[in-house]
Amino acid sequence: MPQCRYAQCLKLRNPQKLFARCCSGCGVALQSPYAPERPERIFCEGCYVKSPVV
Ligand SMILES: [Zn+2]
Repeated sequence: MPQCRYAQCLKLRNPQKLFARCCSGCGVALQSPYAPERPERIFCEGCYVKSPVV
């Protein structure tokens, strides 16, 4: 399946560590490449779309 290969390729190109975080908007659990101690606020997909452009 080309789609599977594409996903696998993306995974290989982004071997970043993911941290368990909570969305700053709705509090849903999600994974982020940003460590918990980083100042960035992170959003789930839904809140990200809704959040105002900075
Ligand atoms: Zn959210």
